[in-house]
Amino acid sequence: MSDTATVFDKILDGELPCHRVYEDEHVLAFLDISPLAPGHTLVIPKQRKAFLHELDDEYAAAIGRALPRIARAVMAASGVDQYNVLQNNGRGAHQAVFHVHFHVIPKIEHRGLGISWRPG
Ligand code: 5GP
Repeated sequence: MSDTATVFDKILDGELPCHRVYEDEHVLAFLDISPLAPGHTLVIPKQRKAFLHELDDEYAAAIGRALPRIARAVMAASGVDQYNVLQNNGRGAHQAVFHVHFHVIPKIEHRGLGISWRPG
């Protein structure tokens, strides 16, 4: 593994642990270490690319197939019927880990205040 390996590369290589939610030949999904809501899940391609526009079709298609399945699992596990899917590209767009990833974030109202995470 090169010095530029991201934490997600290390998770793919088994060098860092994760709480696995879903896996197939092209895709891995696991819980976010710092969740914005319980059940916040990250979905990554096994292709090591920083940005969405760099992904090969094979991996893009696999992510597209996996996302609805993972969303259903997140909904069932979280007991919610609303959620956000977020995908950041570039530091200025709030990307912190430079391996393509999608956030699946259950929409959970906090403490009855009607406050929940929203993009932007
Ligand atoms: P970004 O801002 O790049 O779209 O989001 C990166 C996400 O990765 C953040 O939500 C952050 O909590 C999560 N994250 C960073 N390091 C780790 C880690 O080592 N393990 C897991 N499971 N999530 C991580």
